[in-house]
Amino acid sequence: MDEVNILIIGGGVVGCAIAAELSKKWQDVFVVERFPRVGMATSTRNSGVIHSGIYYSPGSLKARHCLQGNALTFAFCEEHNVPHRRTGKLVVATEAREETALEALNQRGQDNGVEGLRLIGPAEIREREPHIAGVTALDVPSTGIVSAEELVRAYARVAVEQGAHIVTRAQVVSLEPTAKAIRVGIRVGEDVNTPPGQDEIATHETIEARCVINAAGLYADDVAALIGNHSWKIYPVRGEYCEVRSPRRSLINGLVYPLPHADGLSLGMHFTKTIWDTVLIGPTARYVKDKDDYERDRLTVSDFAEGARILVPEITDDDLQLAYSGLRPKLVPPDQHGMADFVIESDAKVPQMIHLVGMESPGLTAAPSVARQVAGMVGEILA
Ligand SMILES: Cc1cc2nc3c(=O)[nH]c(=O)nc-3n(C[C@H](O)[C@H](O)[C@H](O)COP(=O)(O)OP(=O)(O)OC[C@H]3O[C@@H](n4cnc5c(N)ncnc54)[C@H](O)[C@@H]3O)c2cc1C
Repeated sequence: MDEVNILIIGGGVVGCAIAAELSKKWQDVFVVERFPRVGMATSTRNSGVIHSGIYYSPGSLKARHCLQGNALTFAFCEEHNVPHRRTGKLVVATEAREETALEALNQRGQDNGVEGLRLIGPAEIREREPHIAGVTALDVPSTGIVSAEELVRAYARVAVEQGAHIVTRAQVVSLEPTAKAIRVGIRVGEDVNTPPGQDEIATHETIEARCVINAAGLYADDVAALIGNHSWKIYPVRGEYCEVRSPRRSLINGLVYPLPHADGLSLGMHFTKTIWDTVLIGPTARYVKDKDDYERDRLTVSDFAEGARILVPEITDDDLQLAYSGLRPKLVPPDQHGMADFVIESDAKVPQMIHLVGMESPGLTAAPSVARQVAGMVGEILA
């Protein structure tokens, strides 16, 4: 049986950023990913925004890792030529009665240490975004955009250059603690959609790892259950996107957000100018039953146009076409409100295992900072 130091389950942005961090110090770092390539799940089905950290409760892991992750992500992108831009963004109040909430958001951002925040009036809003209907806006200069796909690939590339191994088409199916390690059962080489036992080309391998990191995204609760930990349940919340057709892209110059939903479900349907100069509208937020249900009962372009007109009154159905969707790994059940924090902790019964659960937004931004926290925890396990 192969023995390794560290095995990371999941080759999304979180798993790959952790691999890039850990392989600076340790040999024998393995990432095991069930899809044929890294970053094929939530990590590339998002808005591609490098968030600033204004939204999260002061002192929370989300606030800390978003703020630090913002600086680390920009630095990483510059060093490794990942396409990105420091665009800034506007959070817009469209009616006077929203101004108190906007001021509270400004205050929260300041409390979290986000720099450069300032409230601007209608004249400056019009100057920056002539088609936006706003009475006041919060200007957030430290927000940016990035090619999420290239970011994940760059973390993976750096990890491999430092000696890490990334194994794809490999699904972790069992975890068994031994005296000082964890025995990891892996199905290798098959199509992830094939039911167990029905694929003749699949092989089963076992690896013993001194430390196992659960970075399985939407499936982090299922992976935790493999080691007997049933502490968490992940509820997939679908975020759908629409794209503004090319002749009308000039309606938006940058990133424009409404105030976030009071129920904590999402940041609201926003406009994002991407790194390719396309304009996305979304994501929406709806609980779905299955962790692979990206497309069933999609909203129509009219649904998007109606929501989008709150910020851009002149948008019509004809300006829009449906785009992709993503699934948020939420820890808050559908019948409750609020925003849960990231969970980053050692397993209560098997201390060689670290779980990362509920890694929803701002996980793309936070990943390199989360990776530093995990490196500290791994150091204690391997000491
Ligand atoms: C609609 C939407 C918009 C978002 N917008 C932003 C944004 O603009 N900015 C931002 O910072 N964040 C954003 N996020 C959040 C961000 O995308 C996530 O926090 C981040 O991608 C989570 O990364 P991850 O590596 O934890 O998960 P994933 O990308 O899901 O990676 C987990 C990986 O684990 C693999 N896996 C699962 N089980 C197993 C197993 N048993 N064996 C082997 N492999 C396994 C999966 O195949 C997957 O590739 C958004 C999210 C959504 C859904």
